[in-house]
Amino acid sequence: MIRFDLRQKLGPVQYKHFYTAYQKEVLEKSYLFYYPNKKTGASFKGDLKSRIEKLGNSHTRFKIDFSKFKAIATPILGGQFSLARLVMASPEEVYQLSKLKITSNEGFHDDFIAQLGKVFQYSSLTDLLQQRFRTIKCEVCYYCNRNFITNFIDLHKKGSKGKRVSFQLDHFYPKSRHPHLAFTMNNFIPSCAYCNATLKRDREMTSIPPSHPDFDFHEQFKFSHSDEDILLSPYSGPYPDYRRTFQLKAIYKEHKGVLADLRRKMQAYPKSWQTELAKYPRIYKPEIIADLFRTQIHEEEFDKAPLSKLLKDLGDSLGINDD
Ligand SMILES: [Zn+2]
Repeated sequence: MIRFDLRQKLGPVQYKHFYTAYQKEVLEKSYLFYYPNKKTGASFKGDLKSRIEKLGNSHTRFKIDFSKFKAIATPILGGQFSLARLVMASPEEVYQLSKLKITSNEGFHDDFIAQLGKVFQYSSLTDLLQQRFRTIKCEVCYYCNRNFITNFIDLHKKGSKGKRVSFQLDHFYPKSRHPHLAFTMNNFIPSCAYCNATLKRDREMTSIPPSHPDFDFHEQFKFSHSDEDILLSPYSGPYPDYRRTFQLKAIYKEHKGVLADLRRKMQAYPKSWQTELAKYPRIYKPEIIADLFRTQIHEEEFDKAPLSKLLKDLGDSLGINDD
């Protein structure tokens, strides 16, 4: 629901540090996985192509699709399918690479997906990648904008791992269908457990991910209201599966208390009262609205507090945000 822009979130310098460290960890760990008997400290340079080809040769059906794999992957990953490039694929490239969908409908078997998963060793890297991601401060779930996903870290507890983590990293393109995107940095969306593990799971999404530069679901999709209920504006745009997957209608119906609360405040503090108050020195109408109603929120701040998107939209539809 809310755009997740890692580069903007970290700033250019920290973003570079983050992705450099992330890439290095993946390549070093992969080296140890592929060459367990060689000395440590080296990085795996690439050559995923030969591994995939080898796998393809053992699966007659895979040969058909390998040409498609090559056609999509080569311009992005280079002729040898560089792991280094795959890890760092941009959000736009992730979207392109997601077209290499592997489903049993296309004639592939689950065991094939499992074998491809062995080429892209996610299980050996899971903890590492998740730990690195959890150094990023995230506040509210990017899918539902309802639940806090802040980290709590207890470094003082001896004898334990010393941490408790409260957000999950969702593979936007699920690794069960896209094993090649299992540790691509821009395929991860920090989310709450409910959205990730209960609602989305490994569902295939047709819409672009919240990390994509063109993602504007929050602009196209609006909440409004009836007498008592929160409504979702009619919508037929390019995000059909967000509403359905994250059960937005049913879930946000449960927040109609927010609507009732805003209505109560509108009665208690009408516009005429706001106008009078704003006549005092150093009191400004936008601040009155911000303090009382919390409905004037810029979209870049939506990921800072739960229900921000709902409050902003209701503020618009109730006329609170009008000057
Ligand atoms: Zn959520």
